[in-house]
Amino acid sequence: MAQTFSSAEVVGSHLKRFPVRHLVAGELQGSERSFGVINPATGEVAAQCPEASREQLDEAVRLARLAQPSWAATPIAVRREALLEFARRMVEHEEELAGIITLEQGKPLGAALAEVRRAAQVLGQVVSISLDDEVLRDDANGRVELRYRPLGVVGAIAPWNMPIVLSVPKITHALYTGNALVLKPSPYTPLATLRLGEIAADLFPAGVLSILAGFDKLGQGMSEHAGIDKISFTGSIATGKKVMASAAVNLKRLTLELGGNDAAIVLEDADVAAIAQRLFDGAFVNSGQVCMAIKRLYVHESLYDAACEALTRIAAAVRVGDGFNPKTQLGPVQNKAQFEIVKGVLQDTQATPAVRILTGGRPIEGPGYFVPPTLVADIAEGTRLVDEEPFGPVLPIIRYKEVADAVQRANRTSYGLGASVWGRNTRRATEVAGQLEAGMVWVNRHVGADPTVPFGGAKQSGIGREYGIHGLRAYMEAMSLFMPPSVR
Ligand code: NAD
Repeated sequence: MAQTFSSAEVVGSHLKRFPVRHLVAGELQGSERSFGVINPATGEVAAQCPEASREQLDEAVRLARLAQPSWAATPIAVRREALLEFARRMVEHEEELAGIITLEQGKPLGAALAEVRRAAQVLGQVVSISLDDEVLRDDANGRVELRYRPLGVVGAIAPWNMPIVLSVPKITHALYTGNALVLKPSPYTPLATLRLGEIAADLFPAGVLSILAGFDKLGQGMSEHAGIDKISFTGSIATGKKVMASAAVNLKRLTLELGGNDAAIVLEDADVAAIAQRLFDGAFVNSGQVCMAIKRLYVHESLYDAACEALTRIAAAVRVGDGFNPKTQLGPVQNKAQFEIVKGVLQDTQATPAVRILTGGRPIEGPGYFVPPTLVADIAEGTRLVDEEPFGPVLPIIRYKEVADAVQRANRTSYGLGASVWGRNTRRATEVAGQLEAGMVWVNRHVGADPTVPFGGAKQSGIGREYGIHGLRAYMEAMSLFMPPSVR
């Protein structure tokens, strides 16, 4: 009978029978040390994960350097096909991977399944992008081509909110462009990513892909490693700054996908009833633990009460709970440290005079790190909830009078990941959208990346882009090749 991964117990006992291993230099390896991975729905250790040693990291990097030149010389069609086979295997294992994601990350099983499918789909779209060299000039004086070569060995470091959908693009970008990759998932959510490595173990030449689990020190070891040419990092701004400092050692190339505090501006002519669900989903998807979720909702004063009411109705009907319960719509906050941050923001909000908490406001009693969707009205800048990235299910609804003022307030931050503008007159909304300082701006929607379009943050939300040809080129070095006319 086919295995169904329908409860924490089933997934936990599966992982006990088949413990996940690192993929190092083409081999599946355990480690001398291991650590417990916590199920955020219970707060208890659900499975063990091996902890990679510094020697294992060095071995992965050494083999990556050895394997990379012939991988780069492998025809791109072969590299593409190996990656597409990886995507097919992901889908074949989607139930198992989704079960592991729900166990370690907490999100509902349906959302975990969607994450695996989305990762496979993203892979397919990224490898459909053409990597041709460019001809910059071709005339009587000669020809100039811009040729792109892989950088060598890339280190990828991932966070815990979307372990698979944030790691698979890094694997895809690196391997498709002819690099070798060493990937480290977050210590909070390492299991599904290590399982991916097992699934891919025989697909790529030994050393081309390594996946090792470990704590922050292992990530630091990667950022500082002289054998790594680039770091692709997704995580917090604070850690991004540390990665940048460590990467100076050998002037590593960097792609930094960091935190966001996205504003959404609802214009006076918006149809609140029609957009309320989309606004809610844009803020509370993955329990608010999405870099590009709506984190500040600016609503015109004429619609303010209607928007608060519509969002309150939606929030009140949402079921928060264990991701393995089929009725659950939102899971827990992923880890204790983040739970404490969210609780701190809630306490600060409760203590702010004149603020109205429309729904939620306090963690749910009992085991696990549960917070109900929390809507906060009559709040403004100068509070932790508005100025910081809470990265949890809490949304401030901010009143404004003049659009120009809303734009200014939305821009008055060091974050710059995403933003959105909502209104019936889409021409006007697009005009306002063009004034927002962010890497990605949407009209009448929020959250959503297209793997063929550059994704990334302005200001302190990041450096560089992933996705699209811009994202792929960031894994390559450009060479301007000047040829005499006779070469043509
Ligand atoms: P984090 O910065 O704490 O950790 C991310 C990763 O960095 C982990 O694997 C961690 O082990 C590693 N790490 C920690 N210290 C390190 C160091 N000194 N050197 C190298 N690696 C180190 O982030 P998190 O809490 O896991 O993730 C949440 C944050 O990620 C939020 O701010 C969120 O907005 C951001 N995020 C951004 C994007 C994006 O695409 N822009 C996507 C998802 C999440």
